[in-house]
Amino acid sequence: MNFEDLTIEKAHQSLLKKEFSALELTKFFLERVEKENPKIFAFLKIDEKSAITQAKKIDEKILTGQKISYLAGIPCGIKDNILVEGLECTAGSKILKNYIAPYDATVVKKLKEEGAIILGKTNLDEFAMGSSTEYSFFGPTKNPIDLKRTPGGSSGGSAAAVAANFCLFALGSDTGGSIRQPAAFCGIVGFKPTYGAVSRFGLIAFASSLDQIGPMTKTVRDCEIVFEAIKGKDEMDSTSIEIPSSSHSTTLSLKDIKIGVPKEYFIKGIDPEVEKVVKKAIKKYEENGAKIEEISLPHTEYALPCYYILAPAEASSNLARYDGIKYGYSKNSKLKTQNSKVKSQNSKVLDVYFESRGEGFGPEVKRRIMLGTFTLSAGYFEAYYLRAQKVRLLIKKDFEEAFKKVDFIFTPTTPTPPFLLGEKLKDPVLMYLSDIFTVPVNLAGLPAISIPCGKIGNLPVGLQIVGPAFSDFRVIQIAKFYET
Ligand code: GLN
Repeated sequence: MNFEDLTIEKAHQSLLKKEFSALELTKFFLERVEKENPKIFAFLKIDEKSAITQAKKIDEKILTGQKISYLAGIPCGIKDNILVEGLECTAGSKILKNYIAPYDATVVKKLKEEGAIILGKTNLDEFAMGSSTEYSFFGPTKNPIDLKRTPGGSSGGSAAAVAANFCLFALGSDTGGSIRQPAAFCGIVGFKPTYGAVSRFGLIAFASSLDQIGPMTKTVRDCEIVFEAIKGKDEMDSTSIEIPSSSHSTTLSLKDIKIGVPKEYFIKGIDPEVEKVVKKAIKKYEENGAKIEEISLPHTEYALPCYYILAPAEASSNLARYDGIKYGYSKNSKLKTQNSKVKSQNSKVLDVYFESRGEGFGPEVKRRIMLGTFTLSAGYFEAYYLRAQKVRLLIKKDFEEAFKKVDFIFTPTTPTPPFLLGEKLKDPVLMYLSDIFTVPVNLAGLPAISIPCGKIGNLPVGLQIVGPAFSDFRVIQIAKFYET
């Protein structure tokens, strides 16, 4: 049996037909990770023992003729900012080194209920802040397609794990593009659901009004399977909502579909080769009957500045909890363990905060905390934070207006193909620019998928498909046309 070009769908059929067992499948991936991961560094940690135990349980179920779901026996990776009970969860940061997750995130609980096999935790930029996975405290992940290049970020570990065939799918999180951009860079499928469609309970918060968990897979069909398994309202996340399952969505015909192509996304700065590949992909939809229309999203140019005010503002308050006392790394372990003595050592407490945070956070996280603290401070709040909130609304309205005229919006996922490791490390703004096409979608809370749509040499290019809020399964359906 060839495990190289397996998908979730194929593996599920084979497991049912007993062409191989879940244990054989799991062992294949574990061995592959052991051999290849040191080169790529997609996984931070592997949990071999529990993967084997889980696989055996699924085999038992299959042998005794019990019904199994799509994900039963399917090996996967989980981004290391999503809690898996009993496993270390670092968010790529020194400050959370040795922090053991006390419970499962809702998405993990759901995957476990489905019988998915969690192989381990994947690398990411520290606290999901970054676009190349180079900001991970533990070292960068490399792009399996070209080891000199970045896999994108912040879910670069998850994207590389799927692209390197270390697992059949992975979960990522997307605050400004962190699922779609690495998916595009690694030539895989990445989906950011409508804000709230997937519970954030157990996701280490970066910017709560933008964060969303989503699937990273080899095919659009696999993406649909994983999304179906993890979506849903959750009483542990008050922003979560129920969206109807895929079986409720009507079948789309390209002949009835109008696709909008925003003129603001094909501007100076976009790699002409990327533009060519994406336009060719859009043409394919047109040839198959879809109507293509140029549209305008006039506030696009303000999306990045708006995001880099709002996201750091939320991050600075979310990250206040890492004080060297409650979680992970501490400059004073004595103070941390002997809680009763804390009061008598009040003066020392501040030192612990300062030193633990000073040593525990990396440069990008500190940059964001400073930015956020500044824009939220008295006297600047109205000029920056409040104004950015108003701009966010304008960006959201741009999309609402556009969706009165068209059904979907097609854009490139990124302005360039995967860049070289180290290329943008010295210039944060250059790094921020790689999310220019994905960030507006998070600000508007919309669903969007990135699918591989061609190559420049051997480097993959991503096509981004954006739909109205709650049209998640329609976005997935329209993406499927490209694969067939
Ligand atoms: N690259 C963007 C940032 O650094 C987006 C990150 C993300 O989506 N988590 O903020």
